[in-house]
Amino acid sequence: MCATCGCGDDGAAVITVVPQHDSHTEQHAHSHSEHQHTHDHDHDHGHQHDNEGPHDHQHGHGPGEHVHVPPTETITLEQKVLAKNDELAQGIRQRLAERSILALNLTSSPGSGKTTLLERTLRDLPEVPIAVIEGDQETLLDGERIRATGRPVVQVNTGAGCHLDAAMMGHALEALDPDPGTLLFVENVGNLVCPALFDLGEHAKVVVISVTEGTDKPLKYPHMFAAAALVLVNKIDLLPYVDFDLGKCCEYANSVNPGIELLPLSATTGAGLPAWYDWVFAQRSKLFSVLEDESPGA
Ligand code: MG
Repeated sequence: MCATCGCGDDGAAVITVVPQHDSHTEQHAHSHSEHQHTHDHDHDHGHQHDNEGPHDHQHGHGPGEHVHVPPTETITLEQKVLAKNDELAQGIRQRLAERSILALNLTSSPGSGKTTLLERTLRDLPEVPIAVIEGDQETLLDGERIRATGRPVVQVNTGAGCHLDAAMMGHALEALDPDPGTLLFVENVGNLVCPALFDLGEHAKVVVISVTEGTDKPLKYPHMFAAAALVLVNKIDLLPYVDFDLGKCCEYANSVNPGIELLPLSATTGAGLPAWYDWVFAQRSKLFSVLEDESPGA
């Protein structure tokens, strides 16, 4: 259940996308659906009433009866959901650090080109051990695209959920079991709202926008841009055909996250990609040097 929009993760499944020559797709459907059926009352009551929508009636105590829930209850619920998520995320971050794995959480609205960017990145960096966790509400389509590059991938289908959370990330990592030193990309569900709130234990969030979207995205979705460590502006090959102001977008992004860097690129033509790879390698070097400093012999 999402603390903000009330979306559910009923039926969320972690699916290992196996190599093409295998005859079946291994499903680890035990993950979220089982937890959901334990019926945690904490979440059921908070969001349904909060939405003030048609769902309210489902929990009414009589025909046409509205139940008023004070706003404080919603805030408490949200804090509880996020605190539990943060605790799980902290454990994941620790486990990733122990294995020298840099995890980057890619977020965007649907259609910004995250999967295309990943495909290109995986193909351009054959010498780097990379694994991917793919998040979508339904289908294995993106997982299959990543699999075609020959890299390990796990697909998480969130069902009604609009974001990945730390519990899903934990299950996906168990299924993926990346080698030490792996560079791990997580492609979140296409959504600029809820993924901003949910820490997956990643090293950094990278938000992708494309020039076919509005220049004002950073102002409209400030939480996402404030939570990100980098903004990738994709599809710059289309700049001559669209009304997108790169300078303004940079200004807006910096107004919600002072100092944040924007990298214009095209996953299709390859323009700007070296700067993206440099940024990734710099993050990796930083993580490795921090881990070295923290190691007992340092
Ligand atoms: Mg995708």
